[in-house]
Amino acid sequence: CGIVGIVGRSQVAPLIVDALKRLEYRGYDSAGVATIEKGELGRRRAEGKLINLERRLKDEPLDGTIGIGHTRWATHGVPNETNAHPHFSNGVAIVHNGIIENFAELRDELTRDGYSFASQTDTEVVAHLVARELAKGLKPVEAAHAALKRLSGAFALAIMFKGDEDLIVGARNGPPLAIGHGGDQMFLGSDAIALAPFTNSITYLEDGDWAVVRRESVTIYDIDGNKVDRKRQQSLSTS
Ligand code: GLU
Repeated sequence: CGIVGIVGRSQVAPLIVDALKRLEYRGYDSAGVATIEKGELGRRRAEGKLINLERRLKDEPLDGTIGIGHTRWATHGVPNETNAHPHFSNGVAIVHNGIIENFAELRDELTRDGYSFASQTDTEVVAHLVARELAKGLKPVEAAHAALKRLSGAFALAIMFKGDEDLIVGARNGPPLAIGHGGDQMFLGSDAIALAPFTNSITYLEDGDWAVVRRESVTIYDIDGNKVDRKRQQSLSTS
């Protein structure tokens, strides 16, 4: 029910958990965070409150200056660690708020193509869809765009790629998603309140938008791949 992403300059896992705490008011039943460190994806997830995730991270810290995090309000699949986000497929990591309406059809198609599902979530189809586009030879940004075109339903998404430690793709069709401009680092969050400790310079994605977010640039596109202009605003929320 909440999304955070950071393409940063310091260790992001603790920052992501703190930002997720600011989204607790939205409600959730489990939480998770993924980072990329030395070319490898790492992930910690936990059922229940964020304190459980923090304990996991204390026992097994997660290094990395790029990461995504999630608080989940289960719609498809019980609240447990396996269904908690981020979901992975072949070097692709995904967090998602909302519902992928055509997930059953996509799951059947992907299963026929040899993809196996670790969770009961609707979200996992998105991870496999992106991975399948990469396997066809598309680059990460193009693979994300191709996968997004296949989705119907309501979603806010953040997608990270093992091969690129300077990239999070964000997408919005329904649930809100904001980009925070931090000078030499960038942030994604479900709202400006989550990002208030980092920046108050915010761009809100509109429905149908998707964004290529890197440390020093943000480019926003519509679903056809045309660049769109979205205003940067000073958020009124304070940390
Ligand atoms: N539909 C997804 C799930 O059940 C995302 C739920 C959410 O918005 O947190 O995992």
